[in-house]
Amino acid sequence: MSKNIHYPENNIKNRNNQPVIVRIAPSPTGTLHIGTARTALFNFLFAKHNEGRFYLRIEDTDIERSKPEFEKDIIENLRWLGLKWSGRILRQSQRRKVYAKYIKKLLDSGRAFWCYHTKEELEEEKQGQAGRGEAQVHFCEHKHDSRRGQTSANSPRSVLGAAKGVIRLKCPANNIKFHDLIRGEIEFQTSQIGDFVIAKDAQNPLYNLAVVIDDYETKVSHVIRGDDHISNTPKQIIILESLALARPQYAHIPLTLAPDKTKLSKRHGATAIQEYKEIGYLPEALINFMSFLGWNPGGEKEIFTLEELVGEFTIEQMQRSAAIFNIEKLDWFNGCHIRQLSLRELTKRCIPYLENAKLIQKEKNEKCKKFKILSTNESISLSWLEKVVRLEQERMKKLSEIGELTGFFFRDELTYELELLRWKDMTKQELKSSIDKLYNILSNVNSRDFVTDKLSAILMPEAEKMKDRGRLLWPLRVSITGLKASPGPFEVLSVLGKERALKRIKDAQMRL
Ligand code: GLU
Repeated sequence: MSKNIHYPENNIKNRNNQPVIVRIAPSPTGTLHIGTARTALFNFLFAKHNEGRFYLRIEDTDIERSKPEFEKDIIENLRWLGLKWSGRILRQSQRRKVYAKYIKKLLDSGRAFWCYHTKEELEEEKQGQAGRGEAQVHFCEHKHDSRRGQTSANSPRSVLGAAKGVIRLKCPANNIKFHDLIRGEIEFQTSQIGDFVIAKDAQNPLYNLAVVIDDYETKVSHVIRGDDHISNTPKQIIILESLALARPQYAHIPLTLAPDKTKLSKRHGATAIQEYKEIGYLPEALINFMSFLGWNPGGEKEIFTLEELVGEFTIEQMQRSAAIFNIEKLDWFNGCHIRQLSLRELTKRCIPYLENAKLIQKEKNEKCKKFKILSTNESISLSWLEKVVRLEQERMKKLSEIGELTGFFFRDELTYELELLRWKDMTKQELKSSIDKLYNILSNVNSRDFVTDKLSAILMPEAEKMKDRGRLLWPLRVSITGLKASPGPFEVLSVLGKERALKRIKDAQMRL
């Protein structure tokens, strides 16, 4: 959908003398959420601004909750937004062997160990800590027990006949500090972390371990993600240190909140990009809107293309406070981007909505060029559709409005209340004579002259003669559109053409 722009990947080295590589790592446990799309956008902008790479990694280790249809939705909608990733998609479910290697390494080095505490024991410990007002963390005594906490990759449960174990990492005593590119210096006390679980068994890492391994193996230089992940960062740093691996740089983006300052959720409206697409928001508008959720280039300019955003974006301009989602602002961006599209492009994007509204259908065997009006079976061309769409390009806020705004062009019969034809205090006789007059005048206009300026030059003097122009122009508007509010009557006439226009005026005559 979006322009296919080639962004160079020249691997410019950053401060740490590393090329810029970032990633978006969604879990396919739901459709592409606007929050994830926004994080993807900031990663994309950062990568492309620095001529680096942006990878897509599917974090599908949660087998029960991960679904192929969600993965498909994520991929399709990232593409639709124009957030093209570099290289192949990495799927965590295909990387068990890689993870096993690292788990073994951690066990062999004694940094990780098997823990056999049962759920009940852990729960009891938690309750006790809660009761004493202490942090609910587990410092596991099994790490000191060579029989239990043995460091082989194979679970020694059979030896002990104990419950199925998990693999934990030994928590260091020193606090974990890191510099966040958005939030500055951050420090976590390890006493609040404990010996945390890193894997369910020798092949199946949990989120934190898999992230660290994948980021390391794909040479991710900057981890840019939502700040709901900030408490995972010290754990990831502990894992990195246990494996003697260098850290990436971190940037935690403040979340987007609903207008009532609560977490953005379904009850505030659409959250899935797919829904926004269906409502008729342009990818260009969503990109522009999302970029301003937490970032600001300074200055007056608000309308940006993706390419322009790539040029402008710097992480230093990211806000530290939460962004507030404002749907009116999105509508405004959408209107602006609709007006920036060429008429042909806008028309093409409106076609699916006209089809959905059962107004038109593509002609069979025609490649997108010929259509028919469903109510009349009349053949119409793309250029006629363009004329229709042009009348609404200025007003339209969402593509899905096109059916309602232009439906009258496609209906065989208009179903307005007869009373609507009457202008102010006109008598029925006067109304009839206005309609007759319109019919007579327009029958004598050459069909080639059914263009806005010429029609205006012919009809305006007639309307002026009537003292109150509305006496001619109002019945004209209603008889050809069936609506109180519509584009100007001369424009509508010019799009309808002589034959259709006269039929509509005749219908009004008959009904009167
Ligand atoms: N799978 C995680 C998520 O969807 C990725 C977090 C990260 O970027 O490290 O939130």
